[in-house]
Amino acid sequence: MAYDDTNIFARILRGEIPAKTVYEDEHALAFHDINPQAPQHILVIPKGPYQSMDDFTAHAPDALIAGFFKAVGHVARQMGATETGYRILANHGADAHQEVPHLHIHIFAGRPLGPMLTPMKD
Ligand code: AMP
Repeated sequence: MAYDDTNIFARILRGEIPAKTVYEDEHALAFHDINPQAPQHILVIPKGPYQSMDDFTAHAPDALIAGFFKAVGHVARQMGATETGYRILANHGADAHQEVPHLHIHIFAGRPLGPMLTPMKD
């Protein structure tokens, strides 16, 4: 499936709609999630047309992959979350309930975050 450049994060990257930006460099843009699930909930997106973690790691140039993940770490430090802890999460595809088809890493922090997933029933 081709990258859909009308998705909301592509539009944020092009400056067509606003975002509460907390960090930007040549590889990545980070901004507040519009519907936060934790006291701190930041999204980090790469500056390139990649639908998800799968597309990004298969097709993005090494310099962008390295720069993007360095930006994720930088933003977590900027949030002041390294002492108390934080969680990063990236959804790919239907089973993971990915809503926006542009790779985004969620960074959650600011409270105890509970178990990683709802435990499976036997
Ligand atoms: P996912 O389910 O991993 O695709 O998550 C998509 C995330 O994007 C959700 O947490 C939404 O709250 C968030 N979101 C959707 N539209 C916007 C927007 N315009 N600005 C910031 N966050 C958004």
